[in-house]
Amino acid sequence: MTPTSPLSAASSLTPSTVYDAIVIGSGIGGLVTATQLASKGAKVLVLESYVIPGGSAGYFDRAGYHFDVGASMIFGFGDKGTTNLLTRALEAVNVRLETIPDPVQIHYHLPDNLEVQVHRSYENFLQELGDRFPHERDGIHKFYDECWQVFNCLNAMELLSLEEPRYLMRVFFQHPLACLGLVKYLPLNAGDIARKYIKDPELLKFIDIECYCWSVVPADLTPMINAGMVFSDRHYGGINYPKGGVGKIAQKLVEGLENAGSEIRYKARVREIILENGRAVGVKLISGEEYRAKRIVSNLTRWDTFEKLLPSDKMPPAERRWQQRYQKSPSFLSLHLGVEASVLPPETACHHIILDNWEKMEEAGGTIFVSIPTLLDPDLAPEGYHIIHTFTPHLIDEWKTLSPPEYEEKKEEAAWKIIDRLETIFPGLDAGLDYMEVGTPRTHRRFLGRQDGTYGPIPQRKLMGLLGMPFNRTAIPGLYCVGDSTFPGQGLNAVAFSGFACAHRIAVDLGL
Ligand SMILES: Cc1cc2nc3c(=O)[nH]c(=O)nc-3n(C[C@H](O)[C@H](O)[C@H](O)COP(=O)(O)OP(=O)(O)OC[C@H]3O[C@@H](n4cnc5c(N)ncnc54)[C@H](O)[C@@H]3O)c2cc1C
Repeated sequence: MTPTSPLSAASSLTPSTVYDAIVIGSGIGGLVTATQLASKGAKVLVLESYVIPGGSAGYFDRAGYHFDVGASMIFGFGDKGTTNLLTRALEAVNVRLETIPDPVQIHYHLPDNLEVQVHRSYENFLQELGDRFPHERDGIHKFYDECWQVFNCLNAMELLSLEEPRYLMRVFFQHPLACLGLVKYLPLNAGDIARKYIKDPELLKFIDIECYCWSVVPADLTPMINAGMVFSDRHYGGINYPKGGVGKIAQKLVEGLENAGSEIRYKARVREIILENGRAVGVKLISGEEYRAKRIVSNLTRWDTFEKLLPSDKMPPAERRWQQRYQKSPSFLSLHLGVEASVLPPETACHHIILDNWEKMEEAGGTIFVSIPTLLDPDLAPEGYHIIHTFTPHLIDEWKTLSPPEYEEKKEEAAWKIIDRLETIFPGLDAGLDYMEVGTPRTHRRFLGRQDGTYGPIPQRKLMGLLGMPFNRTAIPGLYCVGDSTFPGQGLNAVAFSGFACAHRIAVDLGL
């Protein structure tokens, strides 16, 4: 998926420079780390293997359409509180983005005609869900209100590194009740809280898909801290789409990074992290060039970092233990469609989830995700047309050993299965189709550099909330991780959180 307008690389690099930090990868986690450090005066070099920044939050252009690679339901662009981390990350390097508010987070199309819209207004959402489950109105209120308690604790304090004792002491003295609240929820999962208040099995299934659609696991495996964030912030800061497409977030962060005197290099694939006396001191690219820095940050998944960039005999025992607790989630089969505007019924919402059978929620092809960003920003498609980005979980295994013709045939077959299911909410989609590009788990692996194209780590079994998710430091001195394999997990605002925390910890370590 080559974009048509790759950004040029910075030119002032010399391999002999010793940087304060090298960041491997320019996903949002990597870029937030880099810009936060640059804003504190550090000299940072970001090395990106692809031709543009953003990773899973990148873009590509085809036939007049401007497609988001992945993410398009964006949290973190609010204008108040402390959890609006994308707004804050951009502001830190003096750049801004226009955003467009989304009135409905998701329109669910679920088994037995369970149709629910999550409105931006909390009251409207509770009213609609309560109308569908009148006998559970009280439980619904209590569950989502408890999510607000988590959110209010988070939203009271500056979100930085939980590995930094002086920061922890400061926030504890400033916000003792909020901190105690968070400590209480850290080991809990959303399912534990939901079952306290809700008994109706169908409603509990609804809570499952509310979690699954961003955590890719049911409520019992979804940490309550993350659920509190998502289920409240959608009504507080709201869902806001960046004008010009999601790719603009990374482009703006790069602009801020360079204005602050730091650098990014594209087509710079890191092959190895250089260790000296067990300490990470630099990186080697596939071109053979070497760069050195006081601190090395990997924005890759932990599997890619510890299995590919480091020798296997250097895998720290802590990483082996982590791999016993977390596994790779499936990747996605993605369809990027251009369609005639007439295909969309009036009042169509931007994001949809389609599920026909609760038993198949977690199966490959079971849950279908749909985003139509042109309903918010029509400039992303030619006049009279819309973009439909639809995706569903798929494992790489069934795509691995196919010959090129078999691969093309399987892509075609899988794509039409999804289009047939979309016809239930968009009748006439097939006839109104103008453009289609299909991405498989192989595409995600290749273009995002993520092992097996995974969406990120998911618990192998029920864990104690977020307690098992590692922070940014690793067992290898000088090496840090950032992004969705670190606390608090997947999603743009979550990896931005991890970027703030990583930069904070490094800044303290470097005395910045
Ligand atoms: C289909 C899909 C839909 C999604 N929808 C949403 C959504 O609606 N809302 C939301 O908030 N989140 C969504 N997400 C999740 C979100 O996009 C990710 O959690 C987040 O973008 C991950 O960011 P990251 O910084 O961890 O890393 P990544 O985005 O994975 O970036 C890592 C970067 O490292 C680079 N890289 C890899 N290997 C190397 C190497 N050896 N050398 C140099 N560079 C390298 C890659 O090219 C990439 O640019 C979605 C994800 C997908 C795939």
